[in-house]
Amino acid sequence: MYLYNSATHKKEEFRTHTPGRVEMYTCGPTVYHFAHIGNLRSYIMEDVLEKFLRYEGYDVNRVMNITDVGHLASDADTGEDKMLKGAKRENKSVMDIAKFYTDAFFDDCAKLNIKTPNVVQPATGLIGEFIKVVSALIEKGSAYVAGGNVYFDTSTLDHYYVFNDHDEEDLAVGVREGVEEDQNKRNKNDFVLWFTRSKFEDQALKWDSPWGVGYPGWHIECSCISMKFNGEYLDLHCGGVDNAFPHHTNEIAQSEAYLGHPWCAQWFHVHHLNTNSGKMSKSKGEFLTISLLEEKGYDPLAYRFFCLQSHYRKGLVFSWENLDNAAGAYSKLIKRIAALTGTEGAVDEEAAARLKEKFLTQVGNDLNTSMGVTCLYDVLKAPVNDATKRAVLADFDRVLSLSLLEKAAELREKEAAQAKTASAPGGFTIQGEGDPAVDALVLQRSEAKKAKNFAEADRIRDELKAQGVEVTDVPGGAVWKRV
Ligand code: AMP
Ligand code: ZN
Repeated sequence: MYLYNSATHKKEEFRTHTPGRVEMYTCGPTVYHFAHIGNLRSYIMEDVLEKFLRYEGYDVNRVMNITDVGHLASDADTGEDKMLKGAKRENKSVMDIAKFYTDAFFDDCAKLNIKTPNVVQPATGLIGEFIKVVSALIEKGSAYVAGGNVYFDTSTLDHYYVFNDHDEEDLAVGVREGVEEDQNKRNKNDFVLWFTRSKFEDQALKWDSPWGVGYPGWHIECSCISMKFNGEYLDLHCGGVDNAFPHHTNEIAQSEAYLGHPWCAQWFHVHHLNTNSGKMSKSKGEFLTISLLEEKGYDPLAYRFFCLQSHYRKGLVFSWENLDNAAGAYSKLIKRIAALTGTEGAVDEEAAARLKEKFLTQVGNDLNTSMGVTCLYDVLKAPVNDATKRAVLADFDRVLSLSLLEKAAELREKEAAQAKTASAPGGFTIQGEGDPAVDALVLQRSEAKKAKNFAEADRIRDELKAQGVEVTDVPGGAVWKRV
């Protein structure tokens, strides 16, 4: 496939260090609150990317961290720990908060058909590994201890990599308005690898280390977790575009200093979900969750469909109207698939291969998911039998994960159940097993009862009984079943 690489600013042919195998890393959630639907946009697009690579035949090893310690309110090593903030807000322990929101995150992912990565590693489970890497960085002269903290020394790098063309002003974190300059830093871009109590007295989770009792910086966890589970050469690193700087920039600095060779070849950044007032973010207070969409009657997969309709490298504007349009299109699509009930003929393999070829080329062009959705409509319009259409749609759904055939089957069942409910004049409803002759007898019996002709009503009941049909009267109608 061809994929835009934000490290080179170019669309490139995707290659891996080991042929046929992709080592893929995703920055996971900071579990101090529910994920908002903006966060989930990133995870949906990363999920499609992983599934597309598998569809192409790659063996993918996908690793994700869970940030349950060390992510401060500002990405620039200042402010309160986000986990502590969550614990204080809800009057719970940090670990309770982490467990609750980790479970909530994976519940949301399941509703959105997002596959769980092969490895999911909470930061608190790998502290020994972080200490090992930080110690090695100090030994190599890439890091130093100052004021009780350990800092990465960016002046030791030939090139402090930045993805986007940040100017010097943007990089000068210490002089940004409202951000207090850390006097311990030798260079303005240096960042913390390990904090000790000398800086944050009320930190809930602390570990012993060669530099005192403390906790890791946020960036080090992703480098260490990836190096441990993906190995020394990472093929693909993913995250939202806000992670590019400083988080990913710092990941590259410390990983390459530790390894002594280039680390990650390909960087995939998902652009933001925005509202009319800008980027959706938790710090703004009000934010939208998957549960809220469900409460309002939306199928979470309609939100997935909404995300797939736009390209991951463009900002996506959320509005209820936009979501309604996507939900309407998704339910129409399911209706059309539900109508593919033809049973004649086998799957036309040649036609299926042609349709699949187009899907591979279209989606393989920088993960163009909206073209992937268009390919679904191409299948519906193709001059092939229903068996072929169903097979190709199921195949594309291995990547798009819209539960197309499952939802269509559910819809058919719902419609069949509704068809079994016959309505008679006067609002009398008969719920049975879809046999008009029985419905007619049930109706006659009810009319006999209404006319107080109980002998006739009993006679009909016996006749139905002889056919193995049992009738129960319910308000406004009757229910029958074969016993
Ligand atoms: P967090 O839980 O805050 O660490 O964020 C989880 C992921 O969501 C990261 O990859 C972020 O870059 C990404 N993210 C944050 N806000 C948005 C947004 N509004 N739209 C898309 N992705 C986002
Ligand atoms: Zn990360």
